[in-house]
Amino acid sequence: MDSCNKSTRDSSPFDCLLFDLDETLYSAKIGIGEATKRNIDDFLVQECGFQETQTKILRVELFKTYGSSLAGLRALGYDIDADDYHSFVHGRLPYDSIKPDAQLRNLLRTINQRKIIFTNSDRIHATKALDRLGIRDCFEQIICFETMNPNLAKSTRPDEFPVVLKPSLDAFRIAIDVAEIDPRRTLFLDDSIRNVAAGKAVGLRTALVGKSIKIKEADFVLETVNSLAQAIPEIWLGEGQRMTRTRSQMDPILATAPIGA
Ligand SMILES: [Mg+2]
Repeated sequence: MDSCNKSTRDSSPFDCLLFDLDETLYSAKIGIGEATKRNIDDFLVQECGFQETQTKILRVELFKTYGSSLAGLRALGYDIDADDYHSFVHGRLPYDSIKPDAQLRNLLRTINQRKIIFTNSDRIHATKALDRLGIRDCFEQIICFETMNPNLAKSTRPDEFPVVLKPSLDAFRIAIDVAEIDPRRTLFLDDSIRNVAAGKAVGLRTALVGKSIKIKEADFVLETVNSLAQAIPEIWLGEGQRMTRTRSQMDPILATAPIGA
């Protein structure tokens, strides 16, 4: 795994790894996702005037129908500035709970293929979280909210430019175009089942991270991103080397992985 020469890259099935960020590159257990939900609920009360008792149901419905609360609120006619929303929802997150991950950093540094972040989060949050993890310099590019929504700031009414986010296929098309990748030779890793399913629909190779359930749209399932080498050794496959494990041989290993990330 240490010899990352050109022949290794030539024979791996992947030219590029496209990583989701939140709860893919760090564990859901540290509570950032829960804190984000609480902040969204506060935003719905303080900035949009909803009753506290309505927020949870509303947030879940907006997420299911529109991909995010911001996308849903704008689609419904609420003129909410994306930067204001992100600074409210992400600005007060407990970033101290995201700790440097030296193991992940070392793992990423053994991967010679292109590595790109593909997140629905805004750029400020993405860079903060990557800096906290100590892995920002492991990625050549961050495809984020601003990349998918370049015209939002120019809109004259909230529903003029619908917010584009994963799992919409448009979001994936933008990422593939911006990153100039061949989806058939790109491994997409995400903790969201619906994002993984959308990735598969646009022709990406897919890995579901942080789960132990198997879904048909996921080519691989990883308990945590730190088990990448065990779950997908093909990433490091070198020229002249033979696959040491087939998928069927790996299935029992994956099936016995403990639940949770
Ligand atoms: Mg995620």
